[in-house]
Amino acid sequence: MPFTHAVFDLDETLYPTSTGLMQRVARRITDWLQRRLGLDPEEASYLRRTYIQRYGTTLAGLLAEHPGRVDVEDYLAYVHDVPVETYLQPDPALRTMLAGIPLGRVIFTNATTEHAVRVLRALGVDDLFERIVDIRALNFVHKPRPEAYERLLALLNTPGRACILVDDRAVNLQPAKRWGMTTVLINGPLQDGVDFTVASVLDVGPLVHRLLRRS
Ligand SMILES: [Mg+2]
Repeated sequence: MPFTHAVFDLDETLYPTSTGLMQRVARRITDWLQRRLGLDPEEASYLRRTYIQRYGTTLAGLLAEHPGRVDVEDYLAYVHDVPVETYLQPDPALRTMLAGIPLGRVIFTNATTEHAVRVLRALGVDDLFERIVDIRALNFVHKPRPEAYERLLALLNTPGRACILVDDRAVNLQPAKRWGMTTVLINGPLQDGVDFTVASVLDVGPLVHRLLRRS
């Protein structure tokens, strides 16, 4: 089966954790919980950690525990209202690596398309992706819930075995194995559900070329 798509997670996959961008987003999430739920800072950060642990994301926790009472669009706009361009700069090496992958390039993210476009523009790679599958396209069912992968494959109209999936979290790769995707973990140990690990996203290009020669 030849590969047709290289599917990339966005945050902390296309750029490193050390940029601090996601810590800034996490602060916005805590801030939203404080303002909208009337919590103090300690309660808000405890709730954020609890929701992430129990439901995978803060938004999933809010939707589960406050059904019908959360303004999802207000939440998404608020938490992503961060100066992305002060954290990320154009990355010519990333651009060269991505441009060299002779497959459909797709973003698969629990964030919004607006945030994804902003991040991709800041990195100087927005024109290299044919599609962004965001949290709305996933009907607010986020990675790593299995339905998210089913939805991704339906939207791409492709079987899982034709996809290479790249993410910085092993937990987001494991469900993909059910559909036969080839999984690549950025900067983590080889483990269940992970076919390959690479130290940097820049190593994905050479790995894809190896896989294409093999298939
Ligand atoms: Mg990520």
